[in-house]
Amino acid sequence: MTARIIDGKAIAADLRAAVKDEASRLAATRGIVPGLAVVLLGDDAASKSYVSSKSRAVAEVGMRPFDHHLPAGTSEADLLDLVRKLNADPAVHGILVQMPLPPGIDAKRVIASIDPDKDVDGFHPLNIGRLMTGLPALVPCTPMGCIKLIKTVHQSIAGYDALMVGRSHIVGSPLAQLLLKENATVTVAHTHTSDLPAHCRRADLLCVAIGCAEFIRGDWIKPGATVIDVGINRVSGGEGGKSRIAGDVNFAEALAIAGAITPVPGGVGPMTIAYLLVNTLRAACALADVPVPSLTRPAGVDRE
Ligand code: NAP
Repeated sequence: MTARIIDGKAIAADLRAAVKDEASRLAATRGIVPGLAVVLLGDDAASKSYVSSKSRAVAEVGMRPFDHHLPAGTSEADLLDLVRKLNADPAVHGILVQMPLPPGIDAKRVIASIDPDKDVDGFHPLNIGRLMTGLPALVPCTPMGCIKLIKTVHQSIAGYDALMVGRSHIVGSPLAQLLLKENATVTVAHTHTSDLPAHCRRADLLCVAIGCAEFIRGDWIKPGATVIDVGINRVSGGEGGKSRIAGDVNFAEALAIAGAITPVPGGVGPMTIAYLLVNTLRAACALADVPVPSLTRPAGVDRE
């Protein structure tokens, strides 16, 4: 058996095209150009590269990027002041503060200072609470991307045994909540879970976000299961002695037993930026009291 490989790159490209169409319709009919402010503190190379790819993606779909690059020594008070200005700026519909923040800055306080209706990362406590209680919310991008990928394989996951390995606020916890919303029977595993392989072997749907390269072995996977690998880990052993990117699942082993699997790279990763664009579009519509568009994708893929 060889698993079907879920092509996150292609699915994300469809979604971005749909966002672009809707953004241009919004501009033409209502004169609204969704704007995303991205705030970066310091010179961390990885953060800089994430931020520039986000801003590029925003511009590519006809939205307006507002980049704010502040020096590493910026005080928390100055950062909060900038967030307050962005909250009040009608051209800004989404605000993203790139994590991690330099030491000495309280990330929780910064996140809580963002207007929840502009919180396109979905990290604000109010949005987390809205998600938990079933109210309309801005939901974290990576978990939404995972659900989208799952839906390209399964029309419904109601009644499936789903295992979420990892319980971070960014991925594991919100994804477990979204799986529950889809009526799966959800177990959440973490570092205190005993006999993780046994839990994995029961899962029809195995989602992994732990940050441990190739940790989940092929013989832990239920034959035919769908595997969503969120992990991004840099490991040695790439071509020409270079490093390579690996997921949290041993892909080669899993391929032989799973029914469907996301590759790393090219699986969940591209979905995260695509959903940042979706959230910015949704935030712009909600703030202007305009109906939120349903993002219809081309043939073969489902409705957003
Ligand atoms: P995180 O905040 O470090 O959380 C990791 C979670 O995994 C924790 O809940 C931890 O359990 C659990 N865990 C770690 N080792 C484990 C083990 N051996 N067995 C069982 N559970 C274990 O990480 P994160 O932010 O969720 O990110 C996870 C991975 O996803 C990373 O590789 C990250 O780079 C990647 N990621 C990718 C995207 C994307 O766009 N594709 C987005 C975000 C993150 P405890 O709670 O008990 O400590």
